[in-house]
Amino acid sequence: MTVRGRFAPSPSGRMHLGNLLAALLAWLDVRSQGGIMVLRIEDLDPQRCSLNKAEQLVEDLQWLGLDWDEGGLEPEYCQSHRSHHYQVAFDRLEAMGLVYPCYCTRAERLAASAPHASDGAVVYNRRCAQLTQTQRDMLEAQGRRPAFRVRVPHQTVTVDDGHMGPYTQQLDTDCGDFIVRRSDGVWAYQLAVVVDDALMGVNHVVRGCDLLTSTPAQAWLHRTLGYQPPAFYHLPLLVDAQGRRLSKRDRDLDLGVLREKYTPQELVGWLGWLAGLQKEPKSATPRQLISRFQWSKVPKKSIAIGST
Ligand SMILES: [Zn+2]
Repeated sequence: MTVRGRFAPSPSGRMHLGNLLAALLAWLDVRSQGGIMVLRIEDLDPQRCSLNKAEQLVEDLQWLGLDWDEGGLEPEYCQSHRSHHYQVAFDRLEAMGLVYPCYCTRAERLAASAPHASDGAVVYNRRCAQLTQTQRDMLEAQGRRPAFRVRVPHQTVTVDDGHMGPYTQQLDTDCGDFIVRRSDGVWAYQLAVVVDDALMGVNHVVRGCDLLTSTPAQAWLHRTLGYQPPAFYHLPLLVDAQGRRLSKRDRDLDLGVLREKYTPQELVGWLGWLAGLQKEPKSATPRQLISRFQWSKVPKKSIAIGST
């Protein structure tokens, strides 16, 4: 079977070092197996995303020397233009009786939920699942607009991650009923990513470990909608010398700043070294790393980066 992987950047800002590592390894995973690379723009949130930023992302990927075979800025590969696909999936979930409106505010959700043991995320307590139609009508009359949640079963789901190994969650207690459409009408990432990967034929998903905890729910959603879940490969997080996770707040590691300091070959060589593909952080093109790429070389534990 042909490997089909994807870049799925969100144009809410410049990519940071963690995004670059994920992009490079997703590309190497595909190119080392003669696969097809898809570029999808994850611009669901109109408040945070813009076409200008999406164009910058595309230009940044090209600057790094990463290419793709399908997708890009064409509407059919931009989530903001794919509502009709998400609506079809939503309607199917609704027809299965799995969707219900949730009127909770953020404060109510936090107050009424038990913190998730492993990553601090909260598990929704199904407060709104029991509302009667009369109660719903009263809330709507007060001007409350619901988000929509999907009801997960009491089921254990194990994802056999291609890099990290088996990862198991009990869906109802570890994940909880998750939002598929926000109260402002924006489709939730969890629904969009599953629909898009399925409809775009993506069968290899390479991404950061911060998404591992959402993966069992995504695998379940794939199967519930009649799709085959892709193979998942999660990358360790990048951390600073103190072991803190890098984030978009570390502005010195976003590509706008990195491009002022490094050539693409220096940056790719550095990422290749962080990923265990070369012994030194010497310059390299993405193509030069293809023959050196093996998942067994990539660290599983968090990768500490030195000073830039
Ligand atoms: Zn609720």
